[in-house]
Amino acid sequence: MYVVMIASECAPVSKVGGLADVVDGLSRELANKGHKVEVILPYYDCMNLSTIGAAINDFQNNSVQVSVQCNGKQLLSTVHSAVIHDNECFFIKPHSQERYFDRGIYYGQRDDDERFTVFCLSAVEFLSETGRRPDVIHCHDWQSALVPVLLKTKHRHSALSQTKTCYTIHNIWHQGKTSEKVLKMADLEQVVTGKDSIVDDSDHAYINLMKGGITYSDIITTVSPKYASETMTNQMGEGMQKTLSKYSDKYTGIINGVDYDSWSPATDKLIPFNYDIDSIEDKYKNKEHMRKKMSMKQDFKPIVSVVGRLDMQKGVHLIRHALLYSLNNGMQFVLLGSSPDKEIDIYFHHLKHYLKDNHDCHIHLSHDEELAHLIYAGADMILIPSLFEPCGLTQMIAMRYGTVPVVRNTGGLSDTVFDAEVSVKPVTDRNGFSFDDFSYDAVSLALKRASMTWHEKPHTFREIMLTGMRTDYSWGASADKYLSLYNRISGKW
Ligand code: ADP
Repeated sequence: MYVVMIASECAPVSKVGGLADVVDGLSRELANKGHKVEVILPYYDCMNLSTIGAAINDFQNNSVQVSVQCNGKQLLSTVHSAVIHDNECFFIKPHSQERYFDRGIYYGQRDDDERFTVFCLSAVEFLSETGRRPDVIHCHDWQSALVPVLLKTKHRHSALSQTKTCYTIHNIWHQGKTSEKVLKMADLEQVVTGKDSIVDDSDHAYINLMKGGITYSDIITTVSPKYASETMTNQMGEGMQKTLSKYSDKYTGIINGVDYDSWSPATDKLIPFNYDIDSIEDKYKNKEHMRKKMSMKQDFKPIVSVVGRLDMQKGVHLIRHALLYSLNNGMQFVLLGSSPDKEIDIYFHHLKHYLKDNHDCHIHLSHDEELAHLIYAGADMILIPSLFEPCGLTQMIAMRYGTVPVVRNTGGLSDTVFDAEVSVKPVTDRNGFSFDDFSYDAVSLALKRASMTWHEKPHTFREIMLTGMRTDYSWGASADKYLSLYNRISGKW
C-alpha cells in the first residue's frame, strides 16, 4: 500500500497537539508494517528542524518547484524534503508577499483559511507534477480538507483520479468556516456546486472546509468510537451532525495509538530513573527528583498532575478548582500547560502568582517536552476533566508510566479509562477513575476517591497502576484498522 499523509502538523518537527503525534505515529507504524508512506507538511519558519538531525542547508537544497493558479495568478512553491523517522517528508514553502508560513507561529492567523488553501493546492500539484500515484491520500482536520475536494472535482480526470481519500476529524470544534473567497482562490467556484457539498449547514453564508472533506472523501474517520457517535448528536456535533449522520456508512472511530518508542518508562531518555512493571519502585525516585526540581515539599502525599493545552475544551475552570481542592485535601499538584488564549493565560498566571509560596504545587505555563516526560514518570495521577475529548493521548501515555488517570467520561477518555469502582468492565481491566458531570462536585468526588484509594488501599492503587502499564495502546492494532479501511476503498493489499 502506498499512502500519502497530508497534514498541518507532524511530530517532532511541527507539533501543537495530538494531531502531530498521530501523523507521526501512524506513518511510522504503517512503514514498520512494510507500506510506503510519505508525509506532506507546510514549511513553517518556526519548525523544530534540529529534531530531525538534518543540516538545514542539505534540507533546503534537496527541493523541487511547483506552481499553482491561485486567485488567477501563478504562485510558486519550493518543496523541500527530509526524512523523519524513516518516512520521506515534504515541506511546502510558498513564495509570495504574504509569507504564509513565515509568521513564527503555526495557527491563529487571520488568513489561516488562505494559508491552508495554498498548502492544499500546492500539495496536490506536487503529487501530480512528480508523477506520484498513491493508493490512498490520508488528510487530517480542516487544514487539509480541501485536498479530497480538489481530487474529486478539478482532478477527477487527472492521473490522480484512481487515488482514494481518507479524511480524519481530530477535533470537531475547528471546522475551517470561511467565506467563498477560498473557492475563488482555488478556482473551485465553477466545479463545487450545490449547497450540500461544502456550504455550512447552519449558516449558508459560510463555506465549511471540514464539510467539504467529509463530503468528498471515500472514508471518514475520527479518533475514537465514542467520539464518532458523539459527533453525530445535536449536543456535540457542533453543527456537523447532519452531514456526519448522512455519511454514517463511511464514518468510523479508531482510537489513536501511543508511540512507545518515545513514551516508555523503561527506555525514556528524558527521565532520570528508568523503570517498568518489575521495577515500579523506581517510579518514586522520579517523584522525588521531580519534587526537588520543582522546589516542592517531600511529603507522604499523592501528586495529581495536568499536562495539556489550556483551553475551554480541557475544562480550565475545573483544572483550577481541582488544583485548589487537591491542595486543601492532602494532595500535591503539578500543572504543565500553555494557552494561546490571552485571557486563559492570564487566569493561570494569576493562579501561579497566588500560589508562588506554596510548596505543595508547581505551575509551569509553557510547552516543555522534557518536563512532560518527568511529570508522567513522577506523578501519581493525571487529571483530564475535558468538556469533550476526541481521543486524548495524555491518559494513555500516563498509564504507560503507571500514572493513574482521573478523567471525565467523554469521547476517547470513555473508550480507554475504566473506573476502578464503577464499571461494566471486569476488575482486572479497571485502570483509573472517571466522572460524568462537567462540574466542580464531580471532579472533587473523583479526586477524593482516587486519593482515598492511594492512602487507604495502596494495594488496590498499585493494581490499577499495573493494569494501565500492561495495557497495549501502541499503534499496531490501530494501524491495522486504518489499513483495512484503506484496503476497503482502494481494493488493494
Ligand atoms: P490535544 O491534541 O487536544 O492537545 P492530546 O491529549 O491528544 O491533546 O495530546 C496532547 C499531547 O501534547 C501529548 O503528547 C502531551 O504530552 C503534549 N502536551 C500538551 N501540552 C503540553 C505542554 N505544555 N508541554 C509539553 N507537552 C504537552
